[in-house]
Amino acid sequence: MIVFDLSCPDGHRFEGWFSSSEDFASQQDRGLLCCPQCGAAEIGKAPMAPAVPKKGNQSLASSGAVQPVAGGQLSPKAVKALQQIAAMQAEALKSSEYVGPRFVEESRAMHYGERDAKPIHGQASLAEAKELHEEGIPVAPLLFPVAPPDDIN
Ligand SMILES: [Zn+2]
Repeated sequence: MIVFDLSCPDGHRFEGWFSSSEDFASQQDRGLLCCPQCGAAEIGKAPMAPAVPKKGNQSLASSGAVQPVAGGQLSPKAVKALQQIAAMQAEALKSSEYVGPRFVEESRAMHYGERDAKPIHGQASLAEAKELHEEGIPVAPLLFPVAPPDDIN
């Protein structure tokens, strides 16, 4: 018997036991497989299924084709994604004024029309952010810490 990790078009994963790969292919062809969670019949092998070495083939691990993510290391793709997010944040902050610890005060002043509304960013504690939120003032956390631009302005 061999076990395959299977998935449906909705991404539900489950295991299927087969007497051979041919048995799996034949059941798949005849539409005998279906997702236990949603009943979908378009079942395929899950993309991240552990490698089942085929006859005469090297296993993926020993061929070096697989780069495991371990020890908190990020894949190059993840690093790239984070860099892109950081760049997007930097772009968004270009038109935003850094108000530092005055953030809470300035946000309130804008919300209540005491000053002109414009994008600002700065520091607020979690409790302060919660208070603003409860007053209906939209605040969003920055994904990356921003250094105070002391040398600007
Ligand atoms: Zn499903």
